[in-house]
Amino acid sequence: MKRISLFIFSLITISASAQTTIKQDAGIKQMVDEVSSKNIEAIVRKLVSFKTRHTLSDTVSKTEGIGSARNWIKAEYERYAAASNGRMKVEFDAFIQPQGNRIDKPTPMKNVLAILKGTDTADKRIYIISGHYDSRVTDVMNVKDFAPGAVDDASGTAVSMELARVMAKRSFPATIIFMAVVGEEQGLYGSTNVAKRAKAEGWQIDAMLNNDIVGNTYGMETGLKDNRSVRVFSEGVPAVETEKQASTRNSVGGENDSPARELARYTKEIAERYVEQLDVKLIYRRDRYLRGGDHTPFSQQGYTAIRITEMNEDFNRQHQDIRKENGVDYGDLPDFADYDYTQKVARMNLSVLANLALAPSEPQNVGIITSGLTNKTQLKWGAPKGKAPAGYYVLMRETISPYWEKKFYVTATTANIGYSKDNYLFAVQAVDADGHESLPVFPKPMR
Ligand SMILES: [Zn+2]
Repeated sequence: MKRISLFIFSLITISASAQTTIKQDAGIKQMVDEVSSKNIEAIVRKLVSFKTRHTLSDTVSKTEGIGSARNWIKAEYERYAAASNGRMKVEFDAFIQPQGNRIDKPTPMKNVLAILKGTDTADKRIYIISGHYDSRVTDVMNVKDFAPGAVDDASGTAVSMELARVMAKRSFPATIIFMAVVGEEQGLYGSTNVAKRAKAEGWQIDAMLNNDIVGNTYGMETGLKDNRSVRVFSEGVPAVETEKQASTRNSVGGENDSPARELARYTKEIAERYVEQLDVKLIYRRDRYLRGGDHTPFSQQGYTAIRITEMNEDFNRQHQDIRKENGVDYGDLPDFADYDYTQKVARMNLSVLANLALAPSEPQNVGIITSGLTNKTQLKWGAPKGKAPAGYYVLMRETISPYWEKKFYVTATTANIGYSKDNYLFAVQAVDADGHESLPVFPKPMR
């Protein structure tokens, strides 16, 4: 009898926790709605028109090759920046890449950065969105042939550009950088240059979103058509982790709570708050098999970075010479991209970036008190730098659950929760009066 009543009780709690309150910020919703699939398509088709955007291709021609492509991207960003009251600055991040595996001679390379300065000069936070504008065909050293790269990765570049257009007109306390990087196909050279420069110059990058391959909704071999799902890849064990941090992670079971995982879960929550008919699928690994991406150089410099990629890929299109073979079309042509889908992905990125850049900073020194044996949980933390938050959410979930399950709202910088720290995972995020949440911080054991 006891058993049965317990069973009924747990059923009730499950159905009650399945309800989610959706509270949108009208300003963010307005920006989300302004993201346009027509603009995205126009950007992709313009990028394809440069014939090839191979990193080692022509830099002299006004109409073809990597040089004309980057000049056009810069001019477009400058056009958007005109609406920013001087707050958005556009620059080339130029460097010379020495000879290497896929670089036959030392090569001048240029990333394009549109930097939307935060309105709060004391706020040092930087959020980055990135796509790579270079392209390739079957032979990674082929600099001459038509390499449209519509999905890989004009689509991701278009996401950065379309967001710059919409967000340049708005102000945020934190800084947002809209990047189009080069050299991805030759070895992640563009993003590596920015990540190393950021580390050397002490940029406080709190989150980096890499959009690579976000325009196709057809799965090769499986024949799946899915314009609703998108993947977010995040690493579990941070690329930079000291022995001491590894030992703490092992003892508390924190392998699923790296800063990248917190960002991934945050991305799912915020994106699904604003974008309809979108399922954000969290993939708990750094990237796909045999592939890499521009988020990884940022992870390797100790920054929190994730990769956003379409759900099902068509490998007959990516990195292929344009041809027909046994009735099968190969090549990354713009007619095969789904621009309404890329619009959804762009809206997802916008909601996350805007919510982060409007939110208070993260709470500091978040600790879980371990000084005694108890069946409760005590947490304490310090107020974030800068603007004071209205309060904090203490997030809780079962250790086997991929997503946060409960939120406790508190206004103090301590919390006593009547659930055992031995049985649940916790994190703390700051929240302002309008409901903008900071990234959650996973607590460290503290006495
Ligand atoms: Zn790519």
